[in-house]
Amino acid sequence: MPAKWVQALLALQAIDLRIRELEQRMTLLPEEMGKLKARRDAMVASTARAADEARRIEREIKNTESEIARLGEENRKLQQQSAMVKKNTEYQAMLSSIALNEKKIGDLEGRVITLLDDFEAAKAEYRRVKVENDAVIKDARSEFEELLAFAGEVKQEIARLQAERPAALRGIDSATLARYTTLLKSKNGGSPLVKVENGICGHCHLRVTQQAANGILKGAVTACDNCQHLIYDEGVEGR
Ligand SMILES: [Zn+2]
Repeated sequence: MPAKWVQALLALQAIDLRIRELEQRMTLLPEEMGKLKARRDAMVASTARAADEARRIEREIKNTESEIARLGEENRKLQQQSAMVKKNTEYQAMLSSIALNEKKIGDLEGRVITLLDDFEAAKAEYRRVKVENDAVIKDARSEFEELLAFAGEVKQEIARLQAERPAALRGIDSATLARYTTLLKSKNGGSPLVKVENGICGHCHLRVTQQAANGILKGAVTACDNCQHLIYDEGVEGR
């Protein structure tokens, strides 16, 4: 068994490293949730575009049909008037207007047939896109809910670990705790207390000094002279 201070600090460190890991996991959640929201928004927009395209064609059909109706009405009037016209030139002009309108109507009717095909295709495309996008939206929503549930679990676990901390602090002297805490909060992300294996520091991987090795042998609170991390040796029995 390693020295008492090592055992106590290892127990505290297990709690603190888990808390740190969970907190780091939590910091990633907003971005993950943001991505899911963006994916959903993109799908909603894509479905809306497909619907807009179908509606646009539908409007064009209606406009074209009302233009056909207007030209037809114009021709009916021209025909009525032509029956009462006496001058041949005027009569001929009316006939050519009627013929021109009929040509336009024919063209527009052809256009309507094309548009009806386009409309059917656009509706089919809308249905296809909607099914596809709805599936993605559903997945994104359930992933989002999973993340929310996960966040709740992580928060609970952090709270539980925090509650365990006071008991774990017992038996650790304040100077050692202060060193440990500084190392824990440092940006290098490593473990404050590390194993020495074959004389090599588990944090910086350099050989520990003779002085440090002696400290470990005496069971004293010892730090690596190179990286300042607290060190212990499993092979050394505590006193
Ligand atoms: Zn070191």
